[in-house]
Amino acid sequence: MRNKRYQNYFKQDGRIYTCSICHSQLLRHDDIVSRAFQGRHGPAYLVDHVINIYIGAKEERMLMTGMHTVADIYCSICEMKLGWKYLHAFEESQKYKEGRCIVEKARISKEVVFDF
Ligand SMILES: [Zn+2]
Repeated sequence: MRNKRYQNYFKQDGRIYTCSICHSQLLRHDDIVSRAFQGRHGPAYLVDHVINIYIGAKEERMLMTGMHTVADIYCSICEMKLGWKYLHAFEESQKYKEGRCIVEKARISKEVVFDF
């Protein structure tokens, strides 16, 4: 394992999404910008902020919406690939995606945490 430092959202109750394999906390319901995205394995979310991930090598990738510089993102605990991060968008209309992540819906599970 590359990174065992584990962060969590305790003290912020509400709906969160966790890794479907190891149940590490990944993102909050409020971090989801759009649910209308498509990943490699089906529906995906565009998300503002994800924790407990590490970022792979950056590469230029031709996506449906044009050329982007992206890097795959992985769960830092179990190393499952979760999606990718947009580092740079070449098209002006796609700039809003920069710094945001695509997370595959099939790779996460919804959970509820309580403030304690
Ligand atoms: Zn995991």
